[in-house]
Amino acid sequence: MDDRDLVRNAANHVPLSPVTFLERSALVYPGKVAVRHGRLAYTYAEFAARCRRLASALAARGVRRGDTVAILAPNVPAMLEAHYAVPALGAVLNPLNIRLDAGAIAVCLAHGEAKLLLADAEFAPVLRDALARLGRPIDVVDIDDSEGPGHGDAASRLGQVTYEELLARGDPAFAWPGVDDEWAPLALLYTSGTTGDPKGVVYHHRGAYLNALGNALAFGLAPDSVYLWTLPMFHCNGWTYTWAVTAVGATHVCLRRVDPALIFPAIAAHGVTHLCGAPIVLNLLIHAPESVKRRFERVVEVATGGAAPPSAVIEAMERMGFRVTHLYGLTESYGPATLCEPQPGWSDLPLAGRAQKMARQGVPLPTLASLVVADPRTARSVPRDGRTMGEVLLRGNTVMKGYLRNPAATAAAFEHGWYHTGDLAVWHEDGYIEIKDRSKDVINTGGENVSSLEVEECLYRHPAIMEAAVVACPDSHWGETPCAFVTPKEGAAVTAEEVVAWCRERIAHFKVPRHVVFGPLPKTATGKIQKNVLRDRAKPLAR
Ligand code: ADP
Repeated sequence: MDDRDLVRNAANHVPLSPVTFLERSALVYPGKVAVRHGRLAYTYAEFAARCRRLASALAARGVRRGDTVAILAPNVPAMLEAHYAVPALGAVLNPLNIRLDAGAIAVCLAHGEAKLLLADAEFAPVLRDALARLGRPIDVVDIDDSEGPGHGDAASRLGQVTYEELLARGDPAFAWPGVDDEWAPLALLYTSGTTGDPKGVVYHHRGAYLNALGNALAFGLAPDSVYLWTLPMFHCNGWTYTWAVTAVGATHVCLRRVDPALIFPAIAAHGVTHLCGAPIVLNLLIHAPESVKRRFERVVEVATGGAAPPSAVIEAMERMGFRVTHLYGLTESYGPATLCEPQPGWSDLPLAGRAQKMARQGVPLPTLASLVVADPRTARSVPRDGRTMGEVLLRGNTVMKGYLRNPAATAAAFEHGWYHTGDLAVWHEDGYIEIKDRSKDVINTGGENVSSLEVEECLYRHPAIMEAAVVACPDSHWGETPCAFVTPKEGAAVTAEEVVAWCRERIAHFKVPRHVVFGPLPKTATGKIQKNVLRDRAKPLAR
């Protein structure tokens, strides 16, 4: 076939952009509730009008194509609206982690060259300090959330205008320009720095569009879904659910704080069908006081990822009436890149066996082009034997553009034409991957590699243990030995000797922790246990 006369034109080729999901849902479901927040509810027509007002007001303040607009806010409507208004101008949204300190915020604002900052009043004190450190003026719009602390408090104003004042000045019918190139930058996300200096990951419109659709498919979102925002929207744009939920015309339910005392009632009150969270969030629900917990008439879908969910956590959630979807990915892959796709026969398995299968990271999302577990030096695949470890390498349209102004890190990340995740995994015969560790978290004892996740999996099965993390402790004889940090369940008593004995019965002796330290575990705002902090705590225990 010779089709050379058939050319790309405006009728058959349009840049992919997640902003178009809002345009469609406003057309299809104008009267349907798009966003809930406390007592507030906006229909899709209102949501779209608010986004257009924001875009026109930002344009009037001088925000142009390619400019960076930073936002520091919890999961509030303004955060969602920024996900449409800013990219619709061809500008770049830079959501900042709400747990950052003033110094780190200043570094991000400077490196990302933020032109304007949308700032929730709760964070005014830390931001005041950050802006002083930045040492240059920046246009600040204060988000004065009616459901938040500091509402109506003039002392928490950093700029000249509040978010709602800005919207009031905007044009609800503003014809935003959109983008003419799907490769245009859409978002800038700083990695949390658990592996080193924060890097500025740049997303494009095409990747966000595709990953949002991939996630809507993977998680079974539909027009009647009600999605509760337990995952921070600043984390990989809420794993692209900020766009995925809108794409299907479902309802977003905002939530300022991750607290079981708010989550269970919100699920009941709004008929929530879907939510996402790190395994730590699931654990919070599992160990919530009985007075707070509720059972729901229907199964509530919960997607987890961001760290490995121990099978004990999956099992406990399913027992509470949730259905768990396991996702794996990184900031660099727009959040989820794989899911543990359930196979037809799995539903007949006993719960414990199914949970173990579900604890694997699985197979690519339909929108990821390919994935291999390979030797990172050659990109040659390891055998699918469930034993040989390799690095997880990804390729496709849902991989970041690269790191902003960091060519060395970008080149290293894309060596051999694959994105190198830094995660070590085995590849099972059925094609499912199972992550064993981040390369920097592996414990090398007497020349043998110990997967910290395997030891944690064993610890989470102990009836008295609520949370556990295992890191390397320096050892003059073995090089390193496993050191366990453990938080017991409330009211449960357990000794270090009992923990060691439990492990000795279940895993190889060289993998058994030499030290067991009790206490709360340090976590990032996205619910990751900070193993770097724990490694420092383990150092004085060195032998
Ligand atoms: P940071 O790198 O700053 O911690 P990311 O959100 O990009 O922030 O973290 C991605 C990392 O989280 C992955 O490289 C992997 O180590 C871990 N991770 C994410 N999802 C899973 C999962 N389902 N199972 C195991 N590890 C996961």
